[in-house]
Amino acid sequence: MLTSTIGSTVLGYPRIGPNRELKRALESYWSGSSDEAELRDVARQLRVGSWTVLRDSGLDSIPGNTFSYYDQVLDTAVTVGAVPQRYRELGLDSLDTYFAMARGVESTPPLEMTKWFDTNYHYLVPEIGPDTTFVLSDRTPVDQFREAAALGITTRPVLVGPLTFLLLSKSDGNAPEAFRPLDRIDDLVGVYADLLAELRRAGVEWVQLDEPAFAADRTPAELEALREAYRRLGSLTERPKLLVAGYFGDLGDALGVLASSPIDGLAVDLVTDPAAAISLPTQTGMQDKTLVAGLVDGRNIWRTDLDKALTTATTLLGSAGELAVGTSCSLLHVPYDVEPEDIDPQIKSWLAFAAQKVHEVVTLGKALRKGRGAVATDLDVARAAITDRASADRARDSHVRVRVEALRPEDARRADYPVRRDAQATTLGLPPLPTTTIGSFPQTTDVRKARAQLRNGSIDETIYRQRMREEIERVIRLQEDLGLDVLVHGEPERNDMVQYFSEYLEGFTSTHNGWVQSYGSRCVRPPILFGDVSRPRPMTVDWATYAQSLTSQPVKGMLTGPVTILAWSFVRDDQPLVDTAKQVALAIRDEVHDLETAGIRIVQVDEPALRELLPLRAVQHKEYLNWAVESFRLATSSAADTTQIHTHLCYSEFGDVIDAIVALDADVTSIEAARSRMEVLDDLNDVGYTKGVGPGVYDIHSPRVPQSAEITHLLQAALQAVPAERLWVNPDCGLKTRSYAEVEQALRNMIAATAQTRARL
Ligand code: GLN
Ligand code: ZN
Repeated sequence: MLTSTIGSTVLGYPRIGPNRELKRALESYWSGSSDEAELRDVARQLRVGSWTVLRDSGLDSIPGNTFSYYDQVLDTAVTVGAVPQRYRELGLDSLDTYFAMARGVESTPPLEMTKWFDTNYHYLVPEIGPDTTFVLSDRTPVDQFREAAALGITTRPVLVGPLTFLLLSKSDGNAPEAFRPLDRIDDLVGVYADLLAELRRAGVEWVQLDEPAFAADRTPAELEALREAYRRLGSLTERPKLLVAGYFGDLGDALGVLASSPIDGLAVDLVTDPAAAISLPTQTGMQDKTLVAGLVDGRNIWRTDLDKALTTATTLLGSAGELAVGTSCSLLHVPYDVEPEDIDPQIKSWLAFAAQKVHEVVTLGKALRKGRGAVATDLDVARAAITDRASADRARDSHVRVRVEALRPEDARRADYPVRRDAQATTLGLPPLPTTTIGSFPQTTDVRKARAQLRNGSIDETIYRQRMREEIERVIRLQEDLGLDVLVHGEPERNDMVQYFSEYLEGFTSTHNGWVQSYGSRCVRPPILFGDVSRPRPMTVDWATYAQSLTSQPVKGMLTGPVTILAWSFVRDDQPLVDTAKQVALAIRDEVHDLETAGIRIVQVDEPALRELLPLRAVQHKEYLNWAVESFRLATSSAADTTQIHTHLCYSEFGDVIDAIVALDADVTSIEAARSRMEVLDDLNDVGYTKGVGPGVYDIHSPRVPQSAEITHLLQAALQAVPAERLWVNPDCGLKTRSYAEVEQALRNMIAATAQTRARL
């Protein structure tokens, strides 16, 4: 018998393991220290662990198939048979073929990886062509349903929806220019139909199909494809009930399309799109469906205002056949559990990680079904925490607020560029085509060891600083030996380019075990920005001035920009992002000022995440880019005309942010370009960029050492687009993840190529 209701649920759950067990098991398998059976065993334990936690929490409907060895989009590609020929030809078994697609092997690079919408999770980009043979090739969703069922736990398998799958795919190498992966939707829906039939035969009651691609702008043809696909899937005779989940934003016209489709449920993200609570009751077609109201934020770590969520839920009563409650999106994007964290108790009481969010959903579900009285204690506790947070002194700093209030537009403006350029030319006296690097040098085992020793107390701060100074000196001597023009201190003291700063700034706290999967086995531990941000003392000045004291070449100070700090943190949700951005910008501004006062003549403010926070819908781009640019300018504009401000950006698609890059008004922009063969320079020319530019001349993501002839070639190409006076020479990004052997040789080749190119000017 089909259970017709969903009640309370979450759209997905973390899978890396409460103590990153999957990370360890994967890395051990990849390094050959353990075998497939051991890896599969860890995976199974993790699945069982999650199902058990979710069942014991009292959720009415438990998501299934949320485990993945690497990535759910890659899983889907394998399930539907979209394994490109070059991986099949490797002749590996199924698990190793899967990992070859994810990570590449010696002979074959991996699939491209990119951001999952506007989150910090990355998925592998499937390659689809006219000849891709879609066929149900893997039964993991069915097997995992059975695995849970054997434990007496009924799950609701979660699949990436067919539209989102194709919209996130790219055309394979054989496809003609006009081909779009979505052209293959009919064939793909056929495979989903087969899978749904198998799931139904295995006893599945509900399936969840994720279609977040419809929170972004979509064409009428794409909306039509959505309508047609769910008309077909909904009309199948042998299928489970279909819950379609749209999240990460406003579904726009897709909401109406889905509401009128023959599906059984719709999950809507009311956290990023609270206005949907108003449009939902007006939709026709919801009366025979379940509406899963996504009221608990799946992507941020704050406790839910349960009273407010219940009020929203109440307005939705009657607008659907069943009103269920859930998270806004999968809980993949938050850490497991706040309970074991050793965070200041007051701040901790404001937080909810995955386990706490599950409990919130359960509480909301009970309140809706049995009335608020049934969960009075939980509501009281939540209310007390919300009230405490709203009035907490520690989240508000009147000095910071007064300072932000007093800002005038001219505080974010520097003198005209020609004035700065001439002033900097005099003070810096750099040769044409100045050479530099992006900041970090390889993080050696010794450096990591020193950091670990400081953390566990086996060395003290003085010894630690001494070790870092030794490393800085080595890096300076190396750069002098190589003949670089603008040096860096190498960033040995930075564990991470955001975490490092967050540890100095007021308004941030951090976790010990708050890991979130970024991709595959890679996890990040985002800092928590809970209050007004200020910089009590200098963060980088000692390192930069020490480095500068060792050399007569200019040493570039290295800072992370406000947008990137926000993008890679869990950010407070009690004020507009723009207000928080201004506070962070002022903190960076203070650091720029102190670096300058200490004699540092070049300061680089990195914004690699500028594009990441770009809203999914084009109508919101302008507003975002305005404040993003403004906060960068605020951070950098106190610099004297003679101080050269650099910025660094690294991602491959600049299209939507190209005007913003110009508007940052940095004196020099270093930008990833090696893989795109300098194309970005033409794009910058097209939008009237006239300042210094350092297109990356070699790709640091690969261990390959570029020959000097290749670099010369790229420099020639760059000179076609940019006059020598404006061109800088640098790698694509920081060198932190590479080895010294690679870096030394690559930089030597870069310097040789520059010398040759200069000689021909
Ligand atoms: N300065 C940083 C580094 O070199 C920049 C890193 C980045 O762009 N992601 O490591
Ligand atoms: Zn970079």
